[in-house]
Amino acid sequence: MNTLQVRASLDETRKFMHERLQGIVPEIEIEAKVEIAHGINELKHEMNAVILGHNYMEPALYHSIPDYTGDSLQLSSIAARTTADIIVFCGVWFMGETAKILNPGKTVLVPSEKAGCSLAEGITAADIRNLKEKFPGAVVVTYVNTYADAKAESDYCCTSGNADKVLTKLIEEGHKRIIFLPDAYLAENTATQLGLPYLDSEADEARFAAISKDQPLVIGWKAKCEVHELFTPEDVANIRKQYADAVILAHPECPPEVIDLVDKSGSTKAMVDYVRDKDAPWYALLTECSMGDNLAAEFPHRKLVRACTLRCKHMNYITLEDTLNALKNKQYQVELDEEIRKQALIPIQRMLEIQ
Ligand code: SF4
Repeated sequence: MNTLQVRASLDETRKFMHERLQGIVPEIEIEAKVEIAHGINELKHEMNAVILGHNYMEPALYHSIPDYTGDSLQLSSIAARTTADIIVFCGVWFMGETAKILNPGKTVLVPSEKAGCSLAEGITAADIRNLKEKFPGAVVVTYVNTYADAKAESDYCCTSGNADKVLTKLIEEGHKRIIFLPDAYLAENTATQLGLPYLDSEADEARFAAISKDQPLVIGWKAKCEVHELFTPEDVANIRKQYADAVILAHPECPPEVIDLVDKSGSTKAMVDYVRDKDAPWYALLTECSMGDNLAAEFPHRKLVRACTLRCKHMNYITLEDTLNALKNKQYQVELDEEIRKQALIPIQRMLEIQ
């Protein structure tokens, strides 16, 4: 939690936002947002709502209205424990679904119906059923960036924050074929991190046959994050040329050839922890743009390379204005088929047990 901690007056909200966001957001824009943020916080208290803000929210929202901020894993854990009547998820739709899966009796709102995700849209429940037929006996691990019906076909969920721990547990349990969906890069990067072989699910049969049945193998799918897939080795080289002493941190949804070149790969939580706890002359983050701005605002004594120009259009749909409308009109409510919800709950609960 790193935003307005108590029920603040309009003047306190104005003071906080200007101090926190100076140099990050133009003054005129901060001023335009103050009343909206204050209105949201007032409504939130009146309605007994909790606002969860993903690390990729734009700075004026991220630093004014969430009760909790974090990555998918952190926010899912909070959603599992909340006593609020209404959960407003300032993030993309699959995150709202995860909150609803964990809290079927609560109203869960996502401020925009358009906030999708290229990973969640990159795989269907039918795709997973086909993979299970193609690789009988394989255990299915699904990244939390998927819709509820895909999760319902899975044995485990994971986030980028605990993918390595989930795979390690499965290997310790003796699993030899692990289908890891849907992000090809996260699957390959995690396999490499753990020293495991990786094959795309559509690779030639000869390549599968070449790997002993006693050797654990990670089998991936073809979906990519439309933001992180755009980072290149040239981006890393350009940062090193200009900021030779910068520590470069990259999200594991980036291509493996980028991960090979950076100093550290980790989830957005790992990036927050690193910038907060480790001293470095400069920090460069290869991830969605708002993250760098949010950390620059939160840790003004740290020097962040503002090299990133990649904004997720889905995260960008979530605005302060839409969040105010979400509370006023109780929109857009996440509703799920109860059978799918119950099935999807199982892999999510397993994920939450492995942090
Ligand atoms: S940044 Fe990538 S993974 Fe995250 S919501 Fe956007 S498209 Fe999906």
